[in-house]
Amino acid sequence: MICRLPKWIAFGKKLKIVDFKMKTERLPQWLKTNTFENLRDTKVLLRKRRLKTVCEEARCPNKGYCFNKPTATFMILGGSCTRNCGFCSVSHTGVQPVDASEPERVAEAALELCLKHVVITSVTRDDLPDGGAAHFAKTVLAVRRRLPQAVIEVLTPDFRGDINALKIVTESEPDVFNHNVETVPSLYSVVRPEADYKTSLTVLRNARELSKGKNIKTKSGLMVGLGESFDEVIAVLRDLRAAGCNYVTIGQYMRPKKSNLPVVQYVHPDIFLKYKEEAQLLGFEAVASAPLVRSSMDAFELNAGI
Ligand code: SF4
Repeated sequence: MICRLPKWIAFGKKLKIVDFKMKTERLPQWLKTNTFENLRDTKVLLRKRRLKTVCEEARCPNKGYCFNKPTATFMILGGSCTRNCGFCSVSHTGVQPVDASEPERVAEAALELCLKHVVITSVTRDDLPDGGAAHFAKTVLAVRRRLPQAVIEVLTPDFRGDINALKIVTESEPDVFNHNVETVPSLYSVVRPEADYKTSLTVLRNARELSKGKNIKTKSGLMVGLGESFDEVIAVLRDLRAAGCNYVTIGQYMRPKKSNLPVVQYVHPDIFLKYKEEAQLLGFEAVASAPLVRSSMDAFELNAGI
């Protein structure tokens, strides 16, 4: 089926999409996911606790797999973002006030789900003086109180590069500090127009510095299939290692909604294996690189080296 070219394709040229006729292609076999049964329990629990997950808000293809485990990535600071990244389906229609009861509700849900690894992420809140850093710290501490044995991972925005905000988060001592660079620098103007590649690298470098003496691993991730070249991805891996990143995740971009950027390429699993080999050669302690990989998917296993 040939569709009308949405505004994004105007950027297509920027994405070096030559002779691109957008057609809704069938997903390759390797991106087909299984269906899972008892998602309802996890969903009911999340609703009961009035909690959002990036799994649902970002229409993650692995939701079934993760909710079935069960695990979920809690999304704090409301469901509406102050930014509008081309790949993201999260709402941008007006931010909600910060809910002081949220940290405790996340901790209660994590306890009820018996999570071994708790991932806490958020929309970007450029409207808040600290970008939401204090709320992140309160949530980490609340989970730590309820689940002292659990691994706690934060997947944060860039806090506009504010090191004081970052310090508030690292002082709460999560086990894993994650901030995604998402894509290669040449695509930022289309994929993450309100973000900056160098700022994201600085956030990771500073988190590394601020974590000295604390047992905090740093992690980042990117999507492929948006028009980047193999060499551009390898260059990003080098930059992340230079910023002291311990872990990296690489997954296939999948278009959550028609208003989001088109998929330029479904990258073959063999290429993901090559990225994994290169990343391991560069010295990452743990690498997850495969079509369905997402930054929090199997986060427990990645951190445990399983
Ligand atoms: S910053 Fe971008 S990726 Fe993150 S929630 Fe906002 S729009 Fe989505």
